[in-house]
Formats: sequence, C-alpha cells, structure tokens
Amino acid sequence: MSAPALRVLSLGAGVQSTCLLLMAAVGHLPKLDAAIFADTGWEPRSVYDHLDRIESEIAKPAGIPILRVSSGNIRDDALDPSRRFASMPLHILNADGGEGMSRRQCTGQYKVRPIKEKVRELLGFPHPQRIPAGLHVEQWIGISVDEFHRAKDADVAYMKNRFPLIEQGYSRSDCLRLLRSRGFGQTPKSACLGCPYHGNAQWRALRDDAPDEWEDVVAFDASIRSGNARATAEGKPLLGQAYLHRSRRPLDEAPIDRVTAHEWSGRQTDVFDAVADAELENGAPDGCSPWSCRSGTPTQTDHGLAS
Ligand code: SF4
Repeated sequence: MSAPALRVLSLGAGVQSTCLLLMAAVGHLPKLDAAIFADTGWEPRSVYDHLDRIESEIAKPAGIPILRVSSGNIRDDALDPSRRFASMPLHILNADGGEGMSRRQCTGQYKVRPIKEKVRELLGFPHPQRIPAGLHVEQWIGISVDEFHRAKDADVAYMKNRFPLIEQGYSRSDCLRLLRSRGFGQTPKSACLGCPYHGNAQWRALRDDAPDEWEDVVAFDASIRSGNARATAEGKPLLGQAYLHRSRRPLDEAPIDRVTAHEWSGRQTDVFDAVADAELENGAPDGCSPWSCRSGTPTQTDHGLAS
C-alpha cells in the first residue's frame, strides 16, 4: 500500500480521542497533520469548553490544527419544517402501545459526512471529483482495547483507519490515567445534549449541573413528540409518539432519579439501570464518536422521521 498523504485524527473530544491527541502532541505517537472535530451544533457546553482548552493547551503548541466541520445543527434541523432532517434514534411509543426506535441517521449525516468532505478537501479532490487510486489519508480513531470490537475499516478507499490505542494496548482507564496526569481528568463524554441514548446518570447531570441545558432538552423533547417537523409538514406525521427518554415519558416526568446498582451498591437496584451504568462506566453508551458510535445498534424501524 502507498504511504498516506496525510495523517489525521478523528477528534470526538471524548476520553479516547483526546488521549490520542495528547499522545501525538507529546511525541508518544507520530505527528498528526490535523485533528477533525465534527460539530453537530448541539454538544454540551463542557465539550466545547474542553475542545477550546485542548486546542490551546495541546494542539496549538504541538502545531496540530483542529479543524471544526459541520453539516448543520441537529437540534434546529429537527424542528425546522423546511430542513431535511437525518433521524435521531428516538424512543417511539406506537399507536398500538408497542415500542420501537426511529432509525439513527444522525451520526452519518452530522459527523461522518462532514469529516469525509474535509478529508477530500485536504486531499485536493472535493466531491464529486474522483480521487486517484492509492491516494489516501491515515485516519486515527480513538478506540481502546476494551471496545476493540468497534474498530472497523473505513467505507471509502481514500481513508485508511488506524487504531493506535489498540496497537499500544491502551484501555479507557489507561487513557483516563494519562489525561489526569496532564490535568485533563475532567474530559467530558462527547454526545449531543439531547441524545436519546443518554442513561439516567447523564440526564441527571444535565438537570442538576446545567439547568439551562436541561431546560433546552426538556423543551426539545416536548417539540418532537409527533416526530420531526418536516415529515409532519409534508403530511407524514409519526403514527405514535417520540421521546428522548427510554421510559417513553416526557423528559421532565421520566424516572431519571432511579438509583442504580452502580451508584448505590447494596441499596435498591434496577436491572435496566445497572446494565446501563455498567456500560457508562466503560464509556459505552454516552459517547458518540463519528466512527465508533458507542450508542449501540438501534432498532431498524423507520417511522417517517427521516424525511
Ligand atoms: S450523539 Fe446521539 S443524537 Fe447525536 S449524532 Fe450521536 S447518536 Fe445522534
């Protein structure tokens, strides 16, 4: 295989990708040409703050540009009848009382797509130009050994994925240890504010620590009860109701205060939450990175949300 033209990091700005940025910056890994952050427009303030900080304290001093790319604002698009909306994995309560989930198209639309566009631009062959055979970037993806099953090849020839954390035998705990030692122990999980895959702990953190963001997601939850605005405007309303919380109740009434085995071992446990929190501890469901969405696989039912 020919040598890569560029080496880029897919920067979700969560634990693993921040760790990779740091490792490259301090010389534990080869130099990066760029780090690409795909912005859905609806990340928590803590993620944007973290991104600013790693840019000024890690990336800039090391000469690694952070390129912020976007293909829209996921929140605004869901509520705008004139905009095409790539469906979020909403929890659906069907008219007959059955439960389902809407298709997840958001990761592809708001994360993968703008990164591919930027990579093509960096290579000098923006869409729809044909990229010469063999010309490619090496793309680093922050997947640690504890989640190696998420490591996948890219679906385009001009991107060759590499997983340096797996190559180095780094677990998520190793990443956290390294980040802590450099003053980045508070690295947040990167995911949309209103991602329906949030566990109770994430919803509670929003409600208790960021009241304005909580107000925002509660309002959004109420606004998507009938599905996305475009589908409704086109006469294809959702035949059921959509919710952000998996209980399929309005977010401000949902049982997000359920204590869990993880939080309160020895006290009341809830099997559903215990599983979710175990995953949380592993960094699983509450982080959505472009190439390794840690949010599980949604039920493939289309409820007309993807207009
Ligand atoms: S965080 Fe959730 S809502 Fe946002 S792009 Fe990922 S899966 Fe979609």
